Parts: sequence; structure tokens; C-alpha cells
Amino acid sequence: MPRPNFETWLKGTQALRFDDETLVIGTENAFAATMLEERLAATISRAVERIAGQPVTVRFEVIADPANPTVPATREPTSELQADSSNRSSRSDLERESQFGSLPLNPRYTFDEFVVGPSNELAHAAATRAAAEPGRVYNPLYLYAGVGLGKTHLLQAIGNELKSRGMHLIYVSSERFTNDYIRSIQDGTTEQFRAFYRGADALLVDDIQFIAGKAQTQEGFFHTFNELHMGGKQVVVTGDEPARQSLLEERIQSRLEGGLVVDIQPPDYETRTAILREKVKVMQVQLPGDVLDVVASRPSSNVRELEGSLNRIVAYAQMTGAPVTVEVARKALGDLLNTRPEAPRTPSAVINAVSEQFGTDSETLKGPRRTKEVSLARHVAMYLLRETSALSSPQVGLALGGRDHSTVLYAQKKVEELIETDPELRSVIATIRQRLASQPR
Ligand code: ADP
Ligand code: MG
Repeated sequence: MPRPNFETWLKGTQALRFDDETLVIGTENAFAATMLEERLAATISRAVERIAGQPVTVRFEVIADPANPTVPATREPTSELQADSSNRSSRSDLERESQFGSLPLNPRYTFDEFVVGPSNELAHAAATRAAAEPGRVYNPLYLYAGVGLGKTHLLQAIGNELKSRGMHLIYVSSERFTNDYIRSIQDGTTEQFRAFYRGADALLVDDIQFIAGKAQTQEGFFHTFNELHMGGKQVVVTGDEPARQSLLEERIQSRLEGGLVVDIQPPDYETRTAILREKVKVMQVQLPGDVLDVVASRPSSNVRELEGSLNRIVAYAQMTGAPVTVEVARKALGDLLNTRPEAPRTPSAVINAVSEQFGTDSETLKGPRRTKEVSLARHVAMYLLRETSALSSPQVGLALGGRDHSTVLYAQKKVEELIETDPELRSVIATIRQRLASQPR
């Protein structure tokens, strides 16, 4: 990976949790999370898979609130990675005491900051009602939706509301629940585990889908659920699909369906605009209405991406010192609109990006050297020049030191084939594309 990519996107990240399947990576802000998710997730998971020797999914989580730097990080107090790989006995007493733990709530995730529209009004109504009369009306409450549509926000809004009324609630990701439960079995502390969870007035579990396929954890969840539910304690669970379609055990599916099930749909244009207005207010920045329109009318329907676009525009404007106009906004969002750059690249930008990635220089690429590495770099340059610039194959040949157009066509075909079979090269090329896309045009 080129140094600038690393410096910009990866340097400030940290591993938060690893549960044998999913590595959760903490980023400093939503903008970085969006960029990593869109551009580097595949590269990162490939790298992690090589180390772990098994398939690994990566997910990104913001560990500090971008809009408000004074808000404490919503990160778990102890990293599961560290806890698992480090010597047990070296864990401090404090950590041992808080072996089971509710995750901290993000104070920003409140009902006040949740914008209601037709796509989410039922979920919002159900959540406020459950928070107002926990354990009485909708128990359990199961909220499901695709990514970035506000599940975690609503779940934590319930948590924040209950907390403000002095209730004892446990808020966990399903990964945290899994880790707590599995560790209690390993450490012989299942009684403490039960006592801890049973003591809650309400249990909020985020992203239940991640316990699918984990028999032991599902067993633990089932019993925990039953105990709390029978005790009249509110249980709220979020997931990414209807319970029946999930891969959860049948008995858990039917428990979730036994209460109220509500979904959240992607917001319509008006709601997207209203959400953006809310975010702008929270971020305390000034953006003209037509700029918000640009963001709201983008094809993406996911609120997290909307926020990402907004952050990107603000970051871009701050970086360039330009006033935020529609043009600036379009420019800032340009490379998020397509995975491929929309405007042609200058040949030298492409050639430079390729030589840098292959650790050579543009003169060498244009020159006569034919070592394996240089030839490959040259072929990749030809391929990318055809893809990202408006050059014909004779022109590409010319740009690379006067080579024949048939050489260019050959290289293009060769690289296309290699991309199919060689993941390493695929990732190299993806990185070059990212690097090109992140350069100002
Ligand atoms: P999910 O958990 O469904 O993937 P999140 O709850 O993390 O999604 O939401 C993603 C981002 O979008 C969060 O920053 C959240 O505050 C914001 N968001 C989602 N829906 C709304 C909404 N209706 N009003 C305000 N912000 C929202
Ligand atoms: Mg979530």
C-alpha cells in the first residue's frame, strides 16, 4: 500500500474486536470509516486473512465522534483482541471486575437527533414507546434494516432515555455478548454471567445476526432472553433482516417474532434532506441549501453514506479553503459517485501512480528495460491508461516511450486475464485506482 494511503486512512485506526470471523476496526471519524469501507475493505480483509489463515470479514466503527471531539469514544473499554491474546493473569483487577460489560452509549444517539420520516416512523414510534414503558408494551422489540439506516442510533436512543431515568440497562453488540458468554464458560464464571445479565432492567442487543451459526452463543442468548423476558424486563434487539429469513436458530427467530417487529426503510428525498440539515446543525457548519440538495439527491440511500458525503465536502472545503459551492461539492463527491474516475486522467498521473506503486519510476517505464517486474508495471500502466484516460491504444504506446499499439492491446488483454486469477495483482491495481481517485483532478 502506498504510504499516502496508509497515512491518510490507516494510521489512526485500531483493532477493536475480533471474534474469529469479524475484525472490527475503529476509525477516528465517519469519513474515514466510509472511505475505508468503500475503498480498502477488500485489501484489508485479504491482508488479515493471510495472517489469520481463514476468512475474515472486516467492519469499521467510529471510535470518536467527529462532530464533537469532546464526546468520549464509544469504544469498548478493553479490546477483545488484547484480552484474548494476552496473559490472563496480567489483566488488572479492574478489568476482571468488569469482565462482563455494557458498552458505553454514544450520547449523540438520542431521539432528539433522530429525524423521523415515512421510512422510519414506525420504528421510531415503537422505540420511543418501548423506552417510555419498558417491558410493558412491545417486548421484545425487534428492529431490522440494512446498514446505515439508524438501527444502532434508535437502539442507543432507547438506552440513553432509560439511562436518564436511572434505569440499569445493558447495551451490547452481539460480538460483546458472544465474548462475554464464551469467556464465562472458559473461566467457569457462567453464574456471574447470568447474575450480571439478569440484574438488568433492560437488555439491548445490537446486530444479532452475528451470533448466527454460533451454537453455544445462541444457547446463551436464548436463556438470557428468556430469563429477562419472563421477569418483565425489556429486551430490544436489532438485526439486518426479518427474523424468519435470518440464519438464527428457529427458537430465537420465534422469540423475536413473539413481540413487535418493525423495519426501517431507506429514507426518501425529503427525509434525507431533513437528516442532512440536522447533521449540519450538529456539526456547526454553514452549507448552502443547494449543496445539501446535491448530497440528498445522490443515489445512495444509506444515512451513513449521506453523512460520509457531508463530511467529505466539509473536509474538502477546509482543505482547499474554498467556499462550499455546488461545484466544490460535486468535485468533493466526484470519486464516490463512481468507482472509476469520471474524468479522464492525465497520462503522467497514471504513469506516476503505477511507477510509485511498483517502486520504479516513470522514465524506467518509458525506457527499454524488460525485467519481469518492470514489464508487469508497464503492462499495468497500459491497462490503466486505457481505462482511465481518453487515449487510444497508439496514443498509450506513445505515452510509454513510443511502443507499438499491438503491444498495448496485448498488455491490456494480459492484465485483464491476470486480474481474474491473481488476487495480489488485483489488489495492487485497486490500490492504484484508489490513489488516482483520491488525487484532485
Ligand atoms: P445501522 O446501525 O442501521 O447500520 P446507524 O444507527 O449506525 O445505522 O446509523 C448510521 C448513521 O446515520 C448514524 O450516524 C446515525 O446517527 C445516522 N442516522 C440514521 N438514521 C438517522 C435519522 N433518521 N436521523 C438522524 N440520523 C440518522
Ligand atoms: Mg449498527
